[in-house]
Amino acid sequence: MRLTPPRGDSVNGVVRVTIFWERCSICGRHRPTRQCWLHPERSVCPYCCIACPERGVCPRPAWYPSLRLAERSVKRDERGEAKKALEELLKRLEGG
Ligand SMILES: [Zn+2]
Repeated sequence: MRLTPPRGDSVNGVVRVTIFWERCSICGRHRPTRQCWLHPERSVCPYCCIACPERGVCPRPAWYPSLRLAERSVKRDERGEAKKALEELLKRLEGG
């Protein structure tokens, strides 16, 4: 009985590069994740990080720390920017 080769092995002469998408602790989807600063036991995807209600108090958001949502007064433009930045990022990740 043959076991499947470990990740990173070459299969049929083609070396597969595996991008590790972890499971987001918040939404449960497999996406690129980073460790949450406020909750180090969690891995958060960009979507959940940006949508996080604690982002306003988070000293170091895992994703796009520069896209801080101003306390209380969230400007629509900022949201649009965040979304655009996200789409760019995911496009890059998916496109390899
Ligand atoms: Zn998520």
